Amino acid sequence: MNFFRSNIAAMAGYVPGEQPQGGKFIKLNTNENPYPCSAKVRAAIGRAVQAGLQKYPDSTATAFRIRAAELYGVEPDWILCGNGSDDILTIVTRAFVDAGDHVRFSRPSYTLYQTLAEIQGAKCHVVDYQADWSLGEDFAKHCDKLRLAYLANPNSPSGTVIPPDKVARIADALPCPLLVDEAYADFAETDCLGLVAANEKIMVTRTLSKSYALAGLRFGFLIAQPQVIRELSKVKDSYNCDALSIAGATAAIDDQAWFEQTRAAVLSTRSKLAEQLKTLGFECVESQANFVWCRHPSHPSEQLYQRLKAEGVLIRYLEFGDWGDGLRITVGTDEQIDAFLAILKAMVIRR
Ligand SMILES: *Cc1c(COP(=O)(O)O)cnc(C)c1O
Repeated sequence: MNFFRSNIAAMAGYVPGEQPQGGKFIKLNTNENPYPCSAKVRAAIGRAVQAGLQKYPDSTATAFRIRAAELYGVEPDWILCGNGSDDILTIVTRAFVDAGDHVRFSRPSYTLYQTLAEIQGAKCHVVDYQADWSLGEDFAKHCDKLRLAYLANPNSPSGTVIPPDKVARIADALPCPLLVDEAYADFAETDCLGLVAANEKIMVTRTLSKSYALAGLRFGFLIAQPQVIRELSKVKDSYNCDALSIAGATAAIDDQAWFEQTRAAVLSTRSKLAEQLKTLGFECVESQANFVWCRHPSHPSEQLYQRLKAEGVLIRYLEFGDWGDGLRITVGTDEQIDAFLAILKAMVIRR
């Protein structure tokens, strides 16, 4: 059918990581949390079901915003909730980016930014990370048509972080708003929430998918100055968060004890994973997220991915055009990582 807008017909569309339904895979490919969510989340969703679902939900997830505002030291009107943080990225892109406008993001990074820009019919400035995973001056370079810049921080797939003072300087230099995608900030040592009050051009997104083990629930949010939130709210679906996800998300951030405990477990397994990968000869980047990005000097990444899949272990093979490729391994439980490492060892160590 050729009624589609030309940019939709021309684009490839975002390709999410494989989600095998049922299979017996050790699943280390989409940065999900290996632990079940807090029991309080399951109880809260149960209560919401009991209360009935015949009414529309609170269109702005007020209960969640009140609790999150306390946790992050802002006011509730600094928070916009979404159906996962991907929904927030969509809202922000639709609000700022018109056909023919330009957007900017780094490479390698989250490829959804390009997809969202292509849906709008925008042009992408792709700025490669430098060898040490810092960002060069090009990222903040002036351009009259630039309307939005995206920065995943920690970055995926590298797990590396641009320090907040550098992010602040980038935002000051940019001629457009900067969306800092902090999907993995709960696993990092620093974050950029503190920058939002000083600069209305800085918007920070968070998600409950990774650090709160709720990828299946779909809940994310944005922190920005209230006048920014007000405009963005015009663009969102009226009921973009359902009653069950609002109940679950509110209970999740209320259970900080669960959060601290599972975060500590993930960080400890991450150290072990990175150390063992290096022992096996992999080049690993120091990660501040719940995954590790690596390459082996003598085993092609795609081949290792395929061989692991055949053995029942799913990791993520990612390639970024002429930038190159690599493997992104999600931090699982200790048992999952031990099983993965044993299979991997047999593949890379020659007897
Ligand atoms: C996982 C991820 C998201 C999206 O998370 P949601 O599940 O939509 O909340 C956003 N950005 C990055 C970089 C991610 O890895």
